Amino acid sequence: MQFDVTPNPQPVDAARRREILADPGFGTHFTDHTAVVDWSWDESGGHWHSARVEAYGPIQLDPAASVLHYAQEVFEGMKAYRHADGGIYTFRPQANAARLQRSARRLALPELDEATFLASLEQLLALDHAWVPDGDGAALYLRPFMYASEAFLGVRPAHEVSYRVIASPAGNYFGGELKPVRIWVSRDYTRAAPGGTGAAKTGGNYAGSLVAQQQAADNGCAQVLFLDPLHDNAVEELGGMNVFLVTSDGRLITPALTGTILEGITRESVIQLGRDRGLEVEERRITLDEWARGVEDGTITEAFACGTAAVITPIGELVDGDTVIASAGTGEVTTSIREELLGIQTGAVQDRHGWLHRL
Ligand code: PMP
Repeated sequence: MQFDVTPNPQPVDAARRREILADPGFGTHFTDHTAVVDWSWDESGGHWHSARVEAYGPIQLDPAASVLHYAQEVFEGMKAYRHADGGIYTFRPQANAARLQRSARRLALPELDEATFLASLEQLLALDHAWVPDGDGAALYLRPFMYASEAFLGVRPAHEVSYRVIASPAGNYFGGELKPVRIWVSRDYTRAAPGGTGAAKTGGNYAGSLVAQQQAADNGCAQVLFLDPLHDNAVEELGGMNVFLVTSDGRLITPALTGTILEGITRESVIQLGRDRGLEVEERRITLDEWARGVEDGTITEAFACGTAAVITPIGELVDGDTVIASAGTGEVTTSIREELLGIQTGAVQDRHGWLHRL
């Protein structure tokens, strides 16, 4: 698909951009452009059209747009890194394209083909490449998303949809030491139910997790652990990351993809890197009790969370109401898988699996 390009007549000036890139934080500064593709329903089922790159700015949206009422929306999250060779690379963007398609199917949104998804990133970066930070571990966070823009209050899949990509520079998550995060075990709220939208990356899942996240913050925790109370409090995932446990006899255990957790691309990559180094990987149900017992008897030696934002982060204490459960925390496996994964993403370690995609 051909993208029409209209450069922003008033881009952020270079000095200000450099100032932002020196300390970008997360998710507050945005680049000069956005890539857009619209979709309209028609007799043949619908078609994508009006692909373009235009100035970043507010969207005109009808107050009746169905996304505002029924949350028909999906999104993705990925990072672009500047390598020593000067090139800009993303990590497994084809997997993000495929997940966006799966999420779209679940939310009755149209599917965007992989080629157009990749082109939207390439076209955006062609204009906004100066926004990719080159600091250690810093990256340009890419946020593709799709929403129902049709002005219609009836409850049915929208006939007008927009897909967009915005980009936001992000600092190094690992500024200092790798600090284990303290996790709040959510007993009052669950994240997803069988047959629900848990495996889709859709805004509603996150809206529903905010009160749990608030409880976590009120209790001095950085993240929430969601459980499945219908299955003996099986461990599901964190608010924005998947979970792994490491055993003393060289196994990696992670909750199976049952349809209620997000199929993390970092998760899949960790499984591969674990197998590469001879670890046996078990994707299965693991209960909070088994985790706690394993830590106590020494069979579980490490616990970590993984996702695009923090890549891999050790899990510190689990706060379960008044009880604090030791989680095993960091160790050699966590550290070395993290180093390899981050190394591949930033270009410091050989990309044996062909995961990098040059933009
Ligand atoms: N679970 C949830 C709920 C998430 O939001 C994310 C972040 N996308 C993940 C897991 C990790 O997924 P990924 O490794 O693809 O970033």
